Amino acid sequence: MIPDIDFIQTCFGRFNAQIFGGSLPIPPLKLTRAASFFGKVHYRRHRNLLGKEIKSDFEIRISTSFDLPEREWEDVIIHEMLHYYIDLNGIRDSSAHGPVFRSMMQQINEKYGRQLTVSKRTAVPRQRRKRTGASTFCISILSDGSRGITICSPARVSYMKRYLPRYYRLQQMHWHSLESSVLDRYPKSIKPRIYRLRDEDYLKLQEALIQAEAQASAVPADQSRP
Ligand SMILES: [Zn+2]
Repeated sequence: MIPDIDFIQTCFGRFNAQIFGGSLPIPPLKLTRAASFFGKVHYRRHRNLLGKEIKSDFEIRISTSFDLPEREWEDVIIHEMLHYYIDLNGIRDSSAHGPVFRSMMQQINEKYGRQLTVSKRTAVPRQRRKRTGASTFCISILSDGSRGITICSPARVSYMKRYLPRYYRLQQMHWHSLESSVLDRYPKSIKPRIYRLRDEDYLKLQEALIQAEAQASAVPADQSRP
């Protein structure tokens, strides 16, 4: 299953009562498309008047990029709730998954028959919806020499041509239309926005553009003589 806010909220309420004695105030619960983690406690770090570091503005973020069984998502949520509990109560530990975290995790696993872990994720993020057909995009060279990309609908091109230079310092803009899986990596924009184009993606796109151009200019043999 892919978690949604309702599910996270229900889990939070249930495990707060069952495991944490209802002591946890509910923080903002958010979904993220991050593929580098299942869940995360996000917070602000600052110093109080005595110079002691404190954490505040907690949020629990759960990724929608993985399709896991419901029970595994529950374990992910309890894992994050345990981080939240430790942070909220200012309990000291040597690292995020230090001995204190591990011993509390162990207790939860034994007492409630859970399978919380501290191991890195091994699941593969689910595929984003692939685009089909050609995409219209602009490869831009910014004033610092770096390359960027903007993918938009064809109807949006003239708008982008006008507004991108107002938001970014650009040396060059090159517009193309092409079907390539490389483009699936970058979001389609409505607003004037440039994403950093990875060098390897740039090379793949260049290669695909050269191929597409060669195909377009090659006149089929049976049409070459009128
Ligand atoms: Zn953790």
